[in-house]
This record gives sequence, C-alpha cells and structure tokens, in this order.
Amino acid sequence: MATSFGGSNKEKKGKKPHKNKPTSKKYSLYKVNGDDIQKARSCPRCGPGIFLATHKDRLVCGKCKYTEFSKK
Ligand SMILES: [Zn+2]
Repeated sequence: MATSFGGSNKEKKGKKPHKNKPTSKKYSLYKVNGDDIQKARSCPRCGPGIFLATHKDRLVCGKCKYTEFSKK
C-alpha cells in the first residue's frame, strides 16, 4: 500500500571518505636511545627542524639546496 519515495538515502554525496594521513617522515629522523635523543643532520642555514636529505655521498637541504659532501 504505502510506497515511500524520496526516503532517506543513506549514501551522502559530496563527502569523500576520511583517510588517515601518513605520518610525516620528519619524525622518523628522530631516534631515541634510552635517555639519548639522536637527530638527523639539520641545515645550518635553515636552522634546526629542517633536516638534510641523506644521499649516497652527500647531504642536501631540500629547502635551500645546501649541500654537504661526506668525506671519507
Ligand atoms: Zn636549508
């Protein structure tokens, strides 16, 4: 008898499903050994917080392109 049209549609449009953001890589540069906190090399120009990307033979700042060659 009663046919309901236009009832509540469970699927809402216009909203994307929430995705958790991947954890920033920056935090993986911090290493804690007991009471000791080890940090990756930070940029001398940009200051602490800006880390140098580690390459095969050099460290490069992604912000100001500061490059430090590792000597052996
Ligand atoms: Zn820098």
